[in-house]
Amino acid sequence: MKKINESFTCINCHQNITQADKTCRNHCPYCFVSLHVDWDIPWDRNTDCWWTMYPIDYQTKHWSIKILFQCSKCGKQHWNKRSLDDQVDQLNKLIEIYKPFFF
Ligand SMILES: [Zn+2]
Ligand SMILES: [Zn+2]
Repeated sequence: MKKINESFTCINCHQNITQADKTCRNHCPYCFVSLHVDWDIPWDRNTDCWWTMYPIDYQTKHWSIKILFQCSKCGKQHWNKRSLDDQVDQLNKLIEIYKPFFF
């Protein structure tokens, strides 16, 4: 897995996102919006979609949280691990906000 780990500005909430600790960050820790840049494997960059992906569901298993993202353009879904500093207590609320875009 190629590691791309740099700070960026969130396209959705415009917070300045610093580098993640020990992990490749691929979504915003505040609003959980990410960009559709991967097709099957994280960071494979195998798509030219580049649209916004929103969290629509999540799973808790053995104390770790996996988040399901869906692309708002092509509908592609994929699961991602949370980052340590993700504001997961906001996740439920955010999913409710984003849901009307998809259902
Ligand atoms: Zn954000
Ligand atoms: Zn897409």
